[in-house]
Amino acid sequence: MTPLIVLKFGGTSVGTPEKIQRVARIIANLQAQENARIVTVVSAMGHSTDHLVDLAKAITPQPEGREYDALLATGEMVSTALMAMCLNHMGYAAVGLNAWQAGMHTEAVFNKARLTTIDVANIHRHLDEQKIVIITGFQGIDTDGNLTTLGRGGSDTTAVALAAALKADRCDIFTDVRGVFSTDPRIVPEAIKLEQIAYIEMMELARLGAQVLHPRAVETARQWHVPLSVRSTFDLEDSGTMIVSEEVLSQLPLEGTRPVSGIASDTSQARIAVIGVPDQPGVVSKIFGALAEKRVSVDMIIQAVGPSTQTNDVVFTVALDDAPAAQAVVQAVAKELGGSGEVLVDTDIAKISVVGVGMIDRPGIAADMFKALAQAGINIKMIATSEIKISCLVAKAEAKSAVAAIHRIFFEDLPAPQTLQDDRVLVDQKLGY
Ligand code: ADP
Ligand code: ASP
Ligand code: MG
Repeated sequence: MTPLIVLKFGGTSVGTPEKIQRVARIIANLQAQENARIVTVVSAMGHSTDHLVDLAKAITPQPEGREYDALLATGEMVSTALMAMCLNHMGYAAVGLNAWQAGMHTEAVFNKARLTTIDVANIHRHLDEQKIVIITGFQGIDTDGNLTTLGRGGSDTTAVALAAALKADRCDIFTDVRGVFSTDPRIVPEAIKLEQIAYIEMMELARLGAQVLHPRAVETARQWHVPLSVRSTFDLEDSGTMIVSEEVLSQLPLEGTRPVSGIASDTSQARIAVIGVPDQPGVVSKIFGALAEKRVSVDMIIQAVGPSTQTNDVVFTVALDDAPAAQAVVQAVAKELGGSGEVLVDTDIAKISVVGVGMIDRPGIAADMFKALAQAGINIKMIATSEIKISCLVAKAEAKSAVAAIHRIFFEDLPAPQTLQDDRVLVDQKLGY
């Protein structure tokens, strides 16, 4: 059977007509070199989604979900039609499909809809006619036929979900950097490109703000065993980064011994503090139950004893976009609970996180991270940890220097990986393993 490959090109890769022509040549060459059937997902050109957001905001501060998604979805319709047109002009048979033509179904939620099913019949029909199929990223249709969007950066998820549904041989995400780096190479030029990264690490990094892949794309790839890579549209010599299972990663001693795989920074969070709620069973459940009802996801949570021992302060973080809704919800609950009803919102924050499966059972990683921040004179506002990640909240203005300081301690001040490997063996021998 001819191989089937799903490709995805991001906004910067298709930002101008010249770039569209370049990408069309890449697609045609891949089809010829690999003798493959090709499905390609494209994002909106350049920053056109941002411009559509600005247009909506110029009309109303709170656009209605259905119309907002109908507007945002148009960006990918433009690039899809242009890409198919370009391939046809170059003499290749190609067809552009919108969400409804490609059978991309989502739940009936605007702005952050999840894909539910993909009816691949129409795609197969075109592939069987030897056409290159171009599909709009980032969108679907709900059960009423409304256009929905998957959340910013969602074209990656479209591509991976298509690869899963079509049982493609692999999914290649083409972007404007050479792959996944130890941190954003635009913030830290010393960042190192990773040859491999585990799905679970990439999922955490993506959720924690590494923009290079949409979190749900990684989640979907992991669930459906889609071989996934990230590579550059502008440096085709570089093979990019392969996202692999943890088992594969653990067979690579040099990479496997690095405690931290990556560092992410997220400046689109808000910290909400509910002051002086009664110290009684059920209080926290009411606060977070009400937030869940409004579909507000909560991230870091701290409950601390207030100035009086009869009360607690509950502090948590949410996405910046959800902050007004979260504030209104918890204000109402706090009043109902008979507390002070005081709710403080801090939007001047950045969440800096280190991620790595190598930190499991390896003490001292948190201490090293705190040391890096202390040496850089950066104050930590809040801390959260899990088995493979540590996050610290800092002031937004200090985000870049925090990432740089932490990167230095984990990636630049390290001895060569081989030495690390020797250390690990030595320690293990000492412990009698
Ligand atoms: P696209 O338009 O192709 O989807 P994005 O802008 O969404 O591209 O994602 C690519 C960008 O992600 C890079 O330009 C880079 O600045 C940023 N980025 C953040 N963290 C990382 C990381 N760890 N590795 C690589 N790129 C990263
Ligand atoms: N165009 C959308 C965005 O800018 C989706 C994407 O590029 O993945 O968020
Ligand atoms: Mg993207």
